[in-house]
Formats: sequence, C-alpha cells, structure tokens
Amino acid sequence: MSRAAEILESVFGYTSFRGEQQAVIDTLVAGEDALVLMPTGGGKSLCYQIPALLREGCGVVISPLIALMQDQVDAMCLVGVKAAYLNSTLSPGQEQEVIDALLRDELDLLYVAPERLNQEHTLALLARCRLALFAIDEAHCVSQWGHDFRADYLELSRLHQAFPDVPRIALTATADQRTRQEIAMRLQLEQARHFISSFDRPNIRYRISLKQSGRQQLLKFLKREHRGDAGIIYCMSRNKTEETANWLQAQGFDALAYHAGLDSRTRSDHLHRFLREEGVIVVATIAFGMGIDKPDVRFVAHLDLPKTIESYYQETGRAGRDGEAADAWMLYGLQDVIKLRQMMAGSGGSEEHKRAEQHRLNALLGLCEISSCRRQALLAYFGEELAQPCGNCDNCLQAPATWDATEPARKALSVTYRTEQRFGVNHLIDVLRGANSDKIFQFGHQHLASYGIGKELESKQWRSVFRQLVARGYLSVDLDRFGALRLEEKCRALLRGEETLELRQDVAEKSVRQQTKVALAPDIDIALWEALRECRREFAEEQGVPPYVIFHDSTLQAMCLELPRELEGFAQLGGVGERKLDKYGPAFLAVINRHFDDSDTLAPPQQEPPSLITES
Ligand code: ADP
Ligand code: ZN
Repeated sequence: MSRAAEILESVFGYTSFRGEQQAVIDTLVAGEDALVLMPTGGGKSLCYQIPALLREGCGVVISPLIALMQDQVDAMCLVGVKAAYLNSTLSPGQEQEVIDALLRDELDLLYVAPERLNQEHTLALLARCRLALFAIDEAHCVSQWGHDFRADYLELSRLHQAFPDVPRIALTATADQRTRQEIAMRLQLEQARHFISSFDRPNIRYRISLKQSGRQQLLKFLKREHRGDAGIIYCMSRNKTEETANWLQAQGFDALAYHAGLDSRTRSDHLHRFLREEGVIVVATIAFGMGIDKPDVRFVAHLDLPKTIESYYQETGRAGRDGEAADAWMLYGLQDVIKLRQMMAGSGGSEEHKRAEQHRLNALLGLCEISSCRRQALLAYFGEELAQPCGNCDNCLQAPATWDATEPARKALSVTYRTEQRFGVNHLIDVLRGANSDKIFQFGHQHLASYGIGKELESKQWRSVFRQLVARGYLSVDLDRFGALRLEEKCRALLRGEETLELRQDVAEKSVRQQTKVALAPDIDIALWEALRECRREFAEEQGVPPYVIFHDSTLQAMCLELPRELEGFAQLGGVGERKLDKYGPAFLAVINRHFDDSDTLAPPQQEPPSLITES
C-alpha cells in the first residue's frame, strides 16, 4: 500500500481514492505544481491535505472565506491533523500561539485568507518556516471580473517567485476553459500538471418544471420528498426570499431568509444555523452560496430562473456534496424569460456584452425546454460528452410528450405580426381565442384575420406555445415596450412552410411520475438511525461543530447496515479513521448494542423511514 493510501485509510477512514486524487497527490509529493478542476463534492480537499501530511513542513491553504476556516480546522483536528488558521478573528494571544506552533514546525496545515497572506510580515514569517505546499482554493477568484477577492488573488502570483521550491496546487470547481486558462496564466501555473475531472454529478437529479402555482408546487415537493432535509431555495429578489421564508415557516418548515440586504448579524446567524443545525432551509438570493461546503444539502430549488447555465450548475452543485441522492428542482415560466430579458437589456454594458449575455440566456432556456436528457445537455454545454442518457433527470425518468405544433406556431407568429408586434402575450392569446375584451375593441383587433382562429387551444396551451417560441428564439421580447413580442429572423422558414415544429407538451407537475428520493436504504431501522443521530448531535453540541463533522450521514447509514458490535468492525466503516474510532467508536457502538438488547427483549415493530412515506 502506498503511504498516501495508508493515510487515506488511517486518518480519513476511506478505502480508495476517487477519480484523480491519487495522481494529484503523487504530483505534489514529487514537488511539482498542479491545477485541479473537480466538481463540488469531488474531493478536492484530500488532494492537498494528504500531501501536506506526507511532505515535511506545513501546508498553507489559501481560502477566501474566513467564516469557514474554523469548521475546516475543527474537522482536521478531529481526525488528528494538526491544523490552525490565521485570520482577523483571532485575538493577538491566539495569533501568537499559532505563529509559535508554525515556527516550531508543529503544524500540518495552516489556513490563511489571501489578503493576510499577501502582507509583508506574513510572507516574512513563512520564509522562516518549512513549507510543504501552497494550496490555492477557489482559484477561479483570480479570473472573475469584479470578484470580491480578485485583487488579493492576483497577488498570489508572488508566491511562485518568493518560494520557488514549494509546490503549489490551485483548485476550483468552475468548469469552463477560459477560467482554467486564466488561472494558469495569472498564477503562473502553465507548467503545472492539469487534472480535469468530469463535471458530472451523478447523484444530483435534475428536474425542471413549468411554473404554475409556484408556492404550492414547492410545498408539495418539500412535503413529499424533503421533510426534515436541509436545502437551499433560490429566488430572484430579496423581497421574495423573505416572503417565501415566512410562508414556509407558517407551513411548519425551519426556513430562513438570506440576502445581501440583511444586516450582517442576521446573515451570519442564519448561515450559522444552516451549518450547525439539521434540516434548516435557507431561502436566498444568489448572495448565498460560495464556499458553503455543507455536505448534506439534500435539495436546491430554484423558484426563479438563474441567469446562465454556469450559475445553474454552480447553484445546483451545492446539493449532495456527500455523494448521496439530492435534487436540483427548478420552476420556470414565460414571465421569468421576459423578466430576465428585460433585466439584461437594462444592464448597460457594450452591445457585444449584451449579445453574449443573450446567448447564454438562450442556452439556459434551451436546457429548460429540451425533451431529451438534461444531464447530457448540461455537460455538453461545458464541452463534455455523456454517451448515454443519464437515467436520473426528469426527462430520462419520464420522457416528456411532444406534439406537432407547426400550425399553432404559425398562428401565433402571424397574430404577433398582424398586431404590429406591439402587444404582450395575454392580449395576443385573447385575439387568437376571439375574446371580447375592451382592449380588443379599442384597437379594432376583432377585424383581424387572426381573430378567433385559435379556439382549438386553451389559453394555457397558447401560453406554452408562446413561451417555447420565445425560448427557442422565434420571438423576442420587446425591450422598450413592456413584454411586447416581436418576430425574429428565425421565423421565416416556419412561416413559409419550410419547417415544422415539435414542442414539448406541458404537463402538470404531479403527473410527472417521480420516484421519491430514497435517502435512507429501505431496510434501515429507523429507531436506530434516530438514536445514532442523537448521539452525533450530542457530540456536535459538546464540541461546537456541525454534526457532519463528527460523522457524515453515509457513515451513520453504514452503521445501521453493517451493525458492527465491536471496535474492529466499526473501524471498517467508511469515514472512520483511527482518531474518530478512538474518540467516538465506543459511544456509537454502545448505541448499537443497546439497540440490539432492546430489540431482543421488546422486538418493536419496524417503522417505515420517514423519507419513504409519500402523500398520495
Ligand atoms: P470539494 O472540496 O471538492 O467540494 P470535499 O473535499 O469537501 O469536496 O469532499 C467532498 C466529500 O467527499 C467530503 O465529505 C469528503 O470527506 C468525501 N471524500 C473525499 N474523498 C473521498 C474518498 N476518496 N473516499 C470517500 N469519501 C471521500
Ligand atoms: Zn437524463
């Protein structure tokens, strides 16, 4: 067994490396640089933690989020790794202790914020220490314009000059090639070995549905599939996050709002509760997210469309970092499209910038409207090919029906044209359906050839046609007139009869048969599961860390399935290293053994796990 594999097992309690981890570790141990692109949850941390343990000296981890350093350091200390951090939250005395430990070569890992690292006295301090490596986490910060941490990240290129012999590893979960190239260039990592992993997150189930009664749809989703689970709900506006959180509270959920407009106390309190407690839902704008590495987020819901596929991928990627089943669930409707197009038009910037944004929005709408595998489309967008449909997205689970919408589409386009491209979708539908509204008489639209030619479809079906015509770029939303639809060049072929059009049949969400999530294996004894969780909760509280830092759900689940009765068996469970075995093994074993004794005498009837109970 290699030394790296020994550490993986004895310290972290895992039996095998994932993906490229081993190769990355070997590269660093050999003293070479690495650039690592791995999706969220892929296991980036081990890529520098293990080399830091194998190489002499201390590994310096540069991470922008000081709020998370405490948890990272706590998690390391629990497995017996000597870790500390330097940031502004330390008192002068605490800081001196860390510095002393560093100078005595007692630390395996030191977490530092970039602005701190760039200070001359920090660099001077590091120059006096033995250093194992530099790990630059969230390395995409270096490339994103307007990123809060960009200036500090750009300065990190100095590390290479100041410490030419210390290997560096840059890590990011941002997928696109441009970002990757820029990281390599800015951080002088062109010579580094690049490790690019697949960006697939197979445990995330992608689902996109038509927005009808947003809240009720959300409620049903939560009640049926995610009772008691931690999750994130994204909304477009601050107001909506607060309204939604309040409403969910009234429905009995532990929901908290999070947006940039809240004062910092409230924000950090909500973040803290999300991380420390179980089953908390955060309703947020995009201000919430970066670096939230809570592994057991079971769902990410979008009540409004994100702006691009990149944001969608990043936001949904916060679900299921622990590799267990998780849902990415999104609602979208015509109004979202119109709103986003308008926001984009009003956003300033050059024509070229606007065109690029437009293009990215179109790609997102394409993802919403496709009837084939969502994962294939998502990965294709990032230049990755998935040979087979995934079997774990809504379209794979139940192929959506399509219909020949050529004729209705022509009618929709022609009514748009005949009303001089000055009206929004509601009025156009009224004309098609021959309604008697004031507006129709005001503009004399009852005399148009299009008037009343669309009675064969209901309003709802017409909305679906218009939405898909906009999403596919046949119609655009007029930016100067609120919501007015306009014909696009692409219409010609369809209007001339040279092209036919298949559209997705909108279905009410409930008829899309979803397998409910099985977070717990079906044969788990729920009483034991709860008892183990209680034991974990007590340790977590006592030590002031989030429960998952003690053991992940998957480790608790393994306890329920393997039912070890002695330390030897307990040590075999995934996620149990030597330190945790000593520290927690006896207590958890006692819970298991007590459970056996109880069930021998009482033989309680097996209850069904709560997450398997579905409403009919
Ligand atoms: P990332 O930083 O890439 O988002 P993390 O480093 O936080 O991911 O790892 C995600 C989860 O996967 C963590 O809970 C970690 O303990 C677990 N993990 C990482 N590598 C392995 C492995 N080789 N075997 C089992 N679990 C692993
Ligand atoms: Zn699929």
